[in-house]
Amino acid sequence: MNRIQLLPFGSVPAELLAELRSGLGRAFLVPCEILPPEPDPRFAFNITRQQYLSTQILAQMVQREAPPTSRLLGVTLADLYIPILTFVFGEAQLQGSCALVSAHRLRQDFYGLPPSQDLVHERLLKEATHELGHTLTLSHCEDYQCVMAASHGVEWIDLKTNRFCTSCRSLVQGRGTMQATL
Ligand SMILES: [Zn+2]
Ligand SMILES: [Zn+2]
Repeated sequence: MNRIQLLPFGSVPAELLAELRSGLGRAFLVPCEILPPEPDPRFAFNITRQQYLSTQILAQMVQREAPPTSRLLGVTLADLYIPILTFVFGEAQLQGSCALVSAHRLRQDFYGLPPSQDLVHERLLKEATHELGHTLTLSHCEDYQCVMAASHGVEWIDLKTNRFCTSCRSLVQGRGTMQATL
């Protein structure tokens, strides 16, 4: 992987994107850029659930045919789901080049708590790093502090760090080298 592109869906605060761009640049040591926004992904809206089907948004992103050495990360405030789960924080194409994250359920006010920008930025960076890790073929990690630990609620996200553990880090680096030779 030699580049990350952030693709906002609908209106996403510029500050949120800027924070994510610098955080991901530090995490993966590759350039990270923000693309012009796509409209609100109404095509993926499920009227019964009042949520957006993340798989359908990913499918649209795949059509952009990003080079295999690049990663395209969709960023949205929309509430995402997949049919078997109540919600998802994000979804990734395993071994693909696309991933998607939502800040909807990362906000404290979603849980009736006082809002915290810092917490949203921190959680979004962890989830974005996690989903990008999946595109680099990483699976869930047993180390609860590793960014690849599974998170089924914000309390789990807060428990982990935004870093890869030693073994996940070596997989990311191995994958990076392989990608660079393509
Ligand atoms: Zn995961
Ligand atoms: Zn790990």
